[in-house]
Amino acid sequence: MNNVREKAISAICSRDSNTVGMAPAVDSVRNNYASDVFNIDQMQKILAPEVFQKMLNTVKNREPLDPSIADDVAKAMKDWAASKGATHYTHWFQPLNGTTAEKHDAFFEPNPNDHDHLILKFSGKNLIVSEPDASSFPSGGLRSTFEARGYTAWDPTSPAFIRRGRNGATLCIPTAFCSYTGEALDRKTPLLRSMEAINKAVQRLMKAFKADKEGTQVSISLGAEQEYFLIDKEFYHLRPDLIQTGRTLFGAAPPKHQQLEDHYFGAIKPRVLAFMSDVERELWQLGIPAKTRHNEAAPAQFEIAPLFEDLNLAVDHNMLVMEVLKVVAEKHDLVCLLHEKPFAGVNGSGKHNNWSISYGKHNLLNPGNNPHENAIFLTTLIAIIRAIDLHADLLRVSTATAGNDHRLGACEAPPAIISIFLGEQLTDIMEQIEAGTVTSTRKSGVLKVGVETLPPLPRDATDRNRTSPFAFTGNKFEFRAPGSSQSCGEVNTLLNAIVAESIEVMADRIEAFDESQDFNTQLQATLQRILKKHKKVIFNGNGYNAEWIEEAHRRGLPELNDTVLAIRKLLDPKNIELLEKTGVFSKAEIHSRCEIFEEEYKRKVRIEAELALLMVRTMIQPAAVEEYTCLSNAANGNAGNPGYKAVRRSLERIGNLMDQLSDEMDEMEALLNDQDDPRKFIDSMNRMRITVDALERLVDDSRWPLPKYREMLFIY
Ligand code: ADP
Ligand code: MG
Repeated sequence: MNNVREKAISAICSRDSNTVGMAPAVDSVRNNYASDVFNIDQMQKILAPEVFQKMLNTVKNREPLDPSIADDVAKAMKDWAASKGATHYTHWFQPLNGTTAEKHDAFFEPNPNDHDHLILKFSGKNLIVSEPDASSFPSGGLRSTFEARGYTAWDPTSPAFIRRGRNGATLCIPTAFCSYTGEALDRKTPLLRSMEAINKAVQRLMKAFKADKEGTQVSISLGAEQEYFLIDKEFYHLRPDLIQTGRTLFGAAPPKHQQLEDHYFGAIKPRVLAFMSDVERELWQLGIPAKTRHNEAAPAQFEIAPLFEDLNLAVDHNMLVMEVLKVVAEKHDLVCLLHEKPFAGVNGSGKHNNWSISYGKHNLLNPGNNPHENAIFLTTLIAIIRAIDLHADLLRVSTATAGNDHRLGACEAPPAIISIFLGEQLTDIMEQIEAGTVTSTRKSGVLKVGVETLPPLPRDATDRNRTSPFAFTGNKFEFRAPGSSQSCGEVNTLLNAIVAESIEVMADRIEAFDESQDFNTQLQATLQRILKKHKKVIFNGNGYNAEWIEEAHRRGLPELNDTVLAIRKLLDPKNIELLEKTGVFSKAEIHSRCEIFEEEYKRKVRIEAELALLMVRTMIQPAAVEEYTCLSNAANGNAGNPGYKAVRRSLERIGNLMDQLSDEMDEMEALLNDQDDPRKFIDSMNRMRITVDALERLVDDSRWPLPKYREMLFIY
């Protein structure tokens, strides 16, 4: 047996997959929950009461950190981490290369008084700042390499945690990462700024409604549903495209993939369940509230969703979820693919971003119990509608990546046009508001904002439309366009920024009301006006319909079909103005990000193009030549013999495809030599793919070198 695929399959079948990932006992889960997190509870146990109180003020009330407690906190953290087996610590941050970064330092240092012994050292300064050599992280011109200094600064609002490896453990301290001159080089810094922008705006709005209460905190919640694929590592190792680019550049669709809808919510296979249990055990230990697990629509596709948490923490936690998925998969001889479109023709993977804003305990996206609360709910909702209508392009930017380009607008993923789904009942309410008191022709109920109570809105019943990129789902918005491999950082930073601006505008209007006039009448008129202007972004229909695309164009909604188009929108004067005004980004930071994202996109596409050419040359063409040779030998016989015609025909078909592929290789080579246009690379790759996939369907199965879709997606 020589074929690499057969060997892989036989290795997979002979594997005993029941030995790993025994489900943990309920008690052990309960006892170990968050045991690897230096959270408030831990701090309360270890820190002196006055130090603890100061930490609490910083963590809960977002007061600036009192630097005088840093040494005490550092000592407690070090002792706690050492008791958990940590030998090292690291500042853990999120540079703009899409992953998390860490640079470990040992706690150990020689004892200056006793050279035969080590002491554990970790000071307040070590905790608060660090200065990693940052020259190799993307900065988009914000920092020249000779001035490589970048600083990581402790984010006390996201608790430190322990990451365990095979040989020990490391204390990870969540940090922000910025340049010497204070510009953000990461995804956390702007996120924190955008949260502050929302905080400011909502505080103002509540004051305008006379609904403010001294000391009440504004919080933003995020529940990130994470989709992913799992395949056996034997197959993965035979696919250079998966290894190098995260997606299959070739691969013919198998006759059966997801048409029968027999995977979605299906019974989870034992091997996958063992993996999921292991993932959850690790996540729970890290205090990540993993809640839901299920099979997704495509074969070999799955989802994990934790309960929603405070935004900053949830973003960090999602980075950890992605990391844990990958690491645990390895333990199970699986590979977790987080790419948005690892397999063409079946569903891609997204990251549904469930988002809401609360004032104290009151979720502003929850229709309230009385007319006043409902007025606040409707005002918030209409502010969001305004924000999305004015800045759909920024939301689109937040989801623009090379991987997500293959997903948006394909197979069950939302289209690249951003619209809002409100559901029937809420749309009806919006229509009533818009009609206001002036229309008598409408059906009896014309809602008066702030006077009448809303009918109870059915939760989730509104949410059967999976084609909308931005859907209201009862008490939150679900942004479905983000890709599975993305950090939630960028997405929520931009979402917060545009919503903060709109809430500020609402506050402006309300503050300007005439005190001598009725508040509700003025509010009604204001909401009516804003809604009229911005309702065009509301769309409850099927986002996959070709008619919607035309309708969206008629409505003037932007359609930004690829990353290059989308990213440029960052530099639109209106967007720069908004991002500066809300304090989320400086102009220099926007330019740098634009440059970084565009550059990253170009590099990724170029890598794919180079690899596609390489694979065709060194794997596909040789297999086709073998097939051709074999057929040529068979065609040597007498033209009158039975079977001769069949062989000639196959030979001709394969020969034609080989010639075509050869032309396509030349074309790709020429492009790579003198072009820098990612769109041309993508077109050329697409053409190659059609030819290669046609060959896959003709060449003797035992000769084909790349694991096929029907194997990767179904055998494990
Ligand atoms: P689905 O969208 O698949 O029907 P759910 O409605 O159960 O799933 O919720 C998906 C995610 O939304 C979960 O992470 C959940 O914790 C989160 N979520 C629920 N309520 C809120 C809220 N008010 N704000 C933010 N996220 C929320
Ligand atoms: Mg969902």
